[in-house]
Amino acid sequence: MCSGRVDLKFVLRAFSNGMDGVFIGACHLNECNYITHGNYHTMNMVLLCKRLLEYIGINPERLTLRFMSGAEANLFVEHVNSFTKKVREIGPFGKSEGVDISQIKEKLAEVIKLIPYIKVVMNEKLSKRLETPHEDMSIHKDYFTKEEIEKLFSEIVSYWIDPAKCQACMTCARRCPVEAIDSKKNMVHIINQDKCIKCGTCYEACPPRFGAVTKLVGQPVPPPIPEEQRTIVRKGKEKEVA
Ligand code: SF4
Ligand code: SF4
Repeated sequence: MCSGRVDLKFVLRAFSNGMDGVFIGACHLNECNYITHGNYHTMNMVLLCKRLLEYIGINPERLTLRFMSGAEANLFVEHVNSFTKKVREIGPFGKSEGVDISQIKEKLAEVIKLIPYIKVVMNEKLSKRLETPHEDMSIHKDYFTKEEIEKLFSEIVSYWIDPAKCQACMTCARRCPVEAIDSKKNMVHIINQDKCIKCGTCYEACPPRFGAVTKLVGQPVPPPIPEEQRTIVRKGKEKEVA
């Protein structure tokens, strides 16, 4: 598999499954067989992932990206051996970090759920080629900064439907790419926050005359209204939520 196909999710899921380390082998830079040069994307993904691991409380050295060609078996063995040695020195996953495994797994699950959002927010830097790329990844370690990651999580965006404004026109539900909106005829629509990938489509799609979808930045989402209060009763052009 091309290293460019290795998704952030694959790496975080490996740690979530208790792996002590993740090794990604990629072709040398500028030796990609495809015009896409996927290994540049992999570099950016790994640099971001290392910052995310650090944020979660996992030693980022548990993840490595090394470059080699298909004809460099010796180099492959050398890289794998040195990484295995390093992971052994770091110690078992979670234990050497001094944190409870279940807490780390919870944090990993939260970050995995936010991957589509993280990709949207970081898209510009993720898709940009490093200006003076070097296969020694330590040179690029500050491409994504700690501050950026802290900002990413402190200013996290959520979308919420204001029950007082929703007219149950169903537009948002039809456009939601992950069916995260509980949509019923004549019922106030509700966003299932566990399913929502924060793409903002519903925010854009809700007709301006209703303006029912609210964008919340770094704020908790109000709880959904009880089922028995969701029915919309229209009086002429006005409406009330029963
Ligand atoms: S933000 Fe995107 S994923 Fe979330 S409810 Fe709206 S359309 Fe669906
Ligand atoms: S598009 Fe707006 S008014 Fe229509 S159902 Fe969704 S939130 Fe309600």
